[in-house]
Amino acid sequence: MEQLSRKPSRPVALSPSAMATFHRCPLKFRLYRLDGYQEPATLAQLVGTTVHHVLEALLTPAPQQRSFHDIPTLLTAAEQAIAGGNDQQAILLQSLQDSGREAYRQQCLEHLRNYYNTEQPQTFTFTSSTEVRVSGMLAEQVPIVGFIDRVDILPQQTLVRIVDYKTGKQPAVARFREDALRQLRFYALAYWRQTGILPDTLTLMYLRERPRSHGSNLLTEHPTESQLCCEEEQIATVWSQILHAGEHGDFPARENALCKNYCAFHSMCPVFGGTTPDYPGWPGTVAAVPSPLPTPEQS
Ligand code: SF4
Repeated sequence: MEQLSRKPSRPVALSPSAMATFHRCPLKFRLYRLDGYQEPATLAQLVGTTVHHVLEALLTPAPQQRSFHDIPTLLTAAEQAIAGGNDQQAILLQSLQDSGREAYRQQCLEHLRNYYNTEQPQTFTFTSSTEVRVSGMLAEQVPIVGFIDRVDILPQQTLVRIVDYKTGKQPAVARFREDALRQLRFYALAYWRQTGILPDTLTLMYLRERPRSHGSNLLTEHPTESQLCCEEEQIATVWSQILHAGEHGDFPARENALCKNYCAFHSMCPVFGGTTPDYPGWPGTVAAVPSPLPTPEQS
C-alpha cells in the first residue's frame, strides 16, 4: 500500500472546493478533510499555485509599476516561496530537475503571457485586492473560509467585481461551466452577507490558452440577490449533510469520472478493493470570525 502523508485533523468549515469534494465523493472528503491524508501534488496544481503567486506579486505595486519584464523575477521568487514550504507542492517542486524544471517554468510563463493577452494590469484604473481571505457564517450557522483571487473596486467606486484565475481548461460543457461559476457565487454570497454590498460582476479568467478574441477566455456573470439566496440554501443543505455524515461516520465512496486518474486514495477505497481506515471522529467546526474585506468605501 502506498504510504500517504497525513496532517493532524483540523476543525471543518465550508469552502467551494470542500463542497465540490463532498458532492463528488463523501469518502474522499472524509479521508482528506477529516483524516488529514494528503494526496501527492500534481504538476498542474503546482503551475496553478505558482501563477497565482506571480499574479499576486504583480498586482501589489501601483499600476504603472506593473511590468511584464518583471515576470521572470517574480516567477523565481514564487518558486523559492513554494519550495520553502512544507507541503506536497514543495516536495514536487524540489523533485523537478533540468528538463522537468524547465518545462514547468515554460508552462508558468505561457499562462502569464496569456494573462497579459487578456488584460494589461499597468492600465488599471481601479483598485485590486488579491488573495482576499473570506471567513464568516452564512445563514443556518454555516461556517465558511476561503480565499478570493481578486476583488476589484471598479471606477464608479460602487461596483465590486470578483475575479478568479483558472489555470485549467475552460469547460466546454454547460454543466461544468455552471459548476465553475458556482464557486464564485459562493464568494459573492460571502462578500454580500459580510459587507451588505452585492458584487456586480463575477469573472472566471482562463489562462491556459491564449485568448482567440477579446474576452474569449472569460466567463462572466452578474449575480442577483435571488440567485445568491438560492445558493445559500443549497450551501446550508450540503453543510447539514456533512454534519450528519460526521456525526455517524457515514461517508460512502461514490465512484465518479475522476476516480481513476485523480484520486490517490485507491488503497483506502472499497471501489478499488481497498480498506477504509477507522473513522477518526468529527474534528469540530471552525468558529468562523468575519475577516475584513475591501469595500468601495475603503478604496
Ligand atoms: S477512488 Fe473514487 S470513490 Fe474511491 S475515494 Fe477516490 S473519489 Fe472516492
